[in-house]
Amino acid sequence: MAATKPHSTIETTADPGSLPVTTLGGVGPALVEMLARLGLHRVQDLWFHLPLRYEDRTHLTPLADLRPGMRAQVVGVVEAVEKTYRYRPQLKVAIGDGVMQTLLLRFFHFNRAQAEQLRQGIRLLCYGEVRQGSGSLEMVHPQYQRLAESADIALDDRLSPVYPTTEGLGQKRLAGVIAKALQLLPTAEQLELIPPSLCADHGLTSLREALLYVHRPPPDAPIDQLTQGTHPAQQHLAFEELLTQHMSLKRLRAAVRERRAPVLGGDGGLRRRWLESLPFQLTSAQQRVTKEIAADTTQPRPMLRLVQGDVGSGKTAVACAAALDAVEAGYQVALMAPTELLAEQHLRNFRHWLEPLGMAVEWLAGKQQGKARLQAMRRVAEGAPMVIGTHALMQESVEFARLGLVIVDEQHRFGVQQRLALRDKGLEGELVPHQLVLTATPIPRTLAMSAYADLDISAIDELPPGRTPVQTIAISNARRVEVIERIHAAGAEGRQVYWVCTLIEESEQLRAQAAEAAHAELTHALADCRVGLIHGRMKSKEKQAAMDAFKSGELAVLVATTVIEVGVDVPNASLMVIENSERLGLAQLHQLRGRVGRGAVASNCVLLYQPPLGQLARERLQVMRETNDGFRIAEKDLELRGPGEVLGTRQTGQLSFRMADLARDAHLLPAVQRVGEQMLAQYGEQAGRLIERWIGGAARYANA
Ligand code: ADP
Ligand code: MG
Repeated sequence: MAATKPHSTIETTADPGSLPVTTLGGVGPALVEMLARLGLHRVQDLWFHLPLRYEDRTHLTPLADLRPGMRAQVVGVVEAVEKTYRYRPQLKVAIGDGVMQTLLLRFFHFNRAQAEQLRQGIRLLCYGEVRQGSGSLEMVHPQYQRLAESADIALDDRLSPVYPTTEGLGQKRLAGVIAKALQLLPTAEQLELIPPSLCADHGLTSLREALLYVHRPPPDAPIDQLTQGTHPAQQHLAFEELLTQHMSLKRLRAAVRERRAPVLGGDGGLRRRWLESLPFQLTSAQQRVTKEIAADTTQPRPMLRLVQGDVGSGKTAVACAAALDAVEAGYQVALMAPTELLAEQHLRNFRHWLEPLGMAVEWLAGKQQGKARLQAMRRVAEGAPMVIGTHALMQESVEFARLGLVIVDEQHRFGVQQRLALRDKGLEGELVPHQLVLTATPIPRTLAMSAYADLDISAIDELPPGRTPVQTIAISNARRVEVIERIHAAGAEGRQVYWVCTLIEESEQLRAQAAEAAHAELTHALADCRVGLIHGRMKSKEKQAAMDAFKSGELAVLVATTVIEVGVDVPNASLMVIENSERLGLAQLHQLRGRVGRGAVASNCVLLYQPPLGQLARERLQVMRETNDGFRIAEKDLELRGPGEVLGTRQTGQLSFRMADLARDAHLLPAVQRVGEQMLAQYGEQAGRLIERWIGGAARYANA
């Protein structure tokens, strides 16, 4: 039977979503440029540019009702103004509403006009986040507006969305273009990509409705739900986004699995000889993971496996077992670490283990120059069995003869992009090497399922015997002298101490200066102890000398920057002091603390902090005091900071979700997996378009 529906070319070819943003009225070159910076090129990019949060200016909150953590709009009269210059310029403005309540407005950046305008007696309308200050509640850099003495206050009648934006592009203007784009939304049916048969069982509403709702919540929208991201419209979008990400990783993985990999099977003789030479036995967790790896590498498909295990759980030994199997089968192994210091530790460790077996280990790092580098590269090209280094290893000029296994340590610092680059390197050859990634930060299960859907996961969930948990306390910097006294006492008992300097500044030079200052201070205060120093600006040789001196016990105290965060292994060190611990994230604190508690002696960790502590910092230090369990810490970290930062991939675009929040939306993941499998199997075309829609510009994910 012939179709009776009238056929119109406009109707079938015009997909308004794929039109360029210039189709919308009033979008000139300057705006196009700013939108491009946000990754917004097509009309549909604007549909899916979702609010980060909402501002509620529909009512005023009396000062007495303010609580830390809430965002609020308030009115008050300026009661006092104070400018201070301690540490850095600061303008403090106290406002009150006549009910014996004061709120402090704090400005670190202000110009003279501002300072002059904010005088005692004027009336202000302010909007901002409330924090607990030392004396009273405060808002840091609130938005504010001066009100005429008796003027009525114009309140909004609905929540206003706040979008991620870029310099020069104000919220109003951005919201304006998005509103225009939304006028081009097609019908619910045309917009939908997830087949209705798959959605029925988890009650999704229409995508069209969901988009319109989150961009323009009605006046009576449930504010709490919207703020928390739990409104059904938001959950609908979160589901689609998680589904998209899941499918794109699965496709990536499938593409790699199509390739062929070398079979790394032998009689295990090399590995056995190494195991016999070790002063310890592998834990049962190490043995299990070793088996899981061997099951993969004896298949002709590339392994993509993540080994997660807490700090000190013995991931290196597991990696070594896999490496020896590859070498025995006649293939090469490359081991990559994120920092030179860590790579060097591995080099020493592997040389110590493997040279007695008659195996040479090559070294390739960024700083290595000239002849040594060329010679190492030549030996690698000729088939040297094992090479260790930093990311320099993956440079194009480095050629392998028969690369069979790539081991990446401390995966979370590399991020998804580097993982892909590595894989691409493998893809150039005929056979793709197996890939083993090691991460010390245990990744919460929810995150692992989603962010690492392209990897299989093994867990070393047991520490070698004989470790004692680290006792942790938090102490205010005001009691610094007591802490130094404590180091003195520890030194007298023959214990070794790390003193870790941290600075928020992103400059290695400033970090080095801080460490040098602390080194001078401690050398002076601890006249009878030898105090060493290590930081990122020192030459490799100097760093190694300092590490050696500490390891041999010649130094009692090692002042260090966070360069020691990963990999450093000195079992006799049993006290660690971390300065400015309030500035570090949980994952980093846990990594640092993992440097002590490696021997049989009971160890301590002192978290020095600069008061006053903010709410988040207080919670972090509390968690550190309560537990040594990396898994719990990682979950707490996810809760406090969000997944992008937990994985260190905030900038890669892969995990900076627009709507989804892995901690909040973990309950969606089982359905995401189920629908994802079905879509990939039966609706490949739609899956591709969904990936294109959400991930869009990052074409490599979509095309993989
Ligand atoms: P991580 O998992 O943090 O990389 P390492 O591989 O550096 O841990 O191991 C930490 C320390 O534990 C090293 O000194 C290592 O030699 C030792 N170790 C590893 N496995 C065992 C084991 N089964 N028994 C005793 N010590 C072990
Ligand atoms: Mg390690």
